[in-house]
Amino acid sequence: MHGFSENTLKEYKNIVFFTGAGMSAESGVPTYRGMGGIWHQYNWEEYACQQAFDSTPEKVLEFHDLRRQKIFGCKPHAGHYTLVEIEKQHSSVSIITQNIDGLHQLSGSSNVTELHGSIWRVCCDFCQDISLDYGAIYASKVCYKCNRWVRPDIVWFGDRLSTEVLRKVDNIVKKCDLFFSIGTSGVVYPAAGYLYLARSNGAKCIEINPEPTDSSPLFHHCIRGDASVILPGLFQSVD
Ligand SMILES: [Zn+2]
Repeated sequence: MHGFSENTLKEYKNIVFFTGAGMSAESGVPTYRGMGGIWHQYNWEEYACQQAFDSTPEKVLEFHDLRRQKIFGCKPHAGHYTLVEIEKQHSSVSIITQNIDGLHQLSGSSNVTELHGSIWRVCCDFCQDISLDYGAIYASKVCYKCNRWVRPDIVWFGDRLSTEVLRKVDNIVKKCDLFFSIGTSGVVYPAAGYLYLARSNGAKCIEINPEPTDSSPLFHHCIRGDASVILPGLFQSVD
């Protein structure tokens, strides 16, 4: 398919970039699932669910400290920066991400919705206070207000996604007329639904992923390769 220029992008009213683990993996962020994913190495039941946190909060937080250290050293790649440039050129660009590493925001994107929360926020398990905590390790593992354990403000196994976030994302996807799925297999709920939603509302749907996915047949175009290479090439006249 042809690339997009600033002018051809203007033919679209609302553009959505839906990003998943593959986008971050190219920056060196460890993935959860798949080959080499951290859940092959660690048991999520011990480290990434509410029950684990309830029984051994310190152990769970130490594990997340390790994850933070690993992610803290990762930098956005050329694909992230391409999305920043597109946001400068177009009035309605939304990034919806399944990633918790904040790399989109770090690269400079502003309209980012995090489906699964952020490793850089903590949420008090008791008073529900949410605060930013950006750093290689937690500045505090207890709530500043009530002195109880804080938990990472991320969606763990068995957690429900925030209804507020889900409603917001639904509205964004419903309105879009150009939908990109980047670095995600799109098979895990609710990601799978967004492609259907975008498509049934008439959006042009493009997949960027190194491998074909189960959802590939539903896209209008599939581009095989790494986002850090494909995105700058696809939007090369946007800068
Ligand atoms: Zn609290």
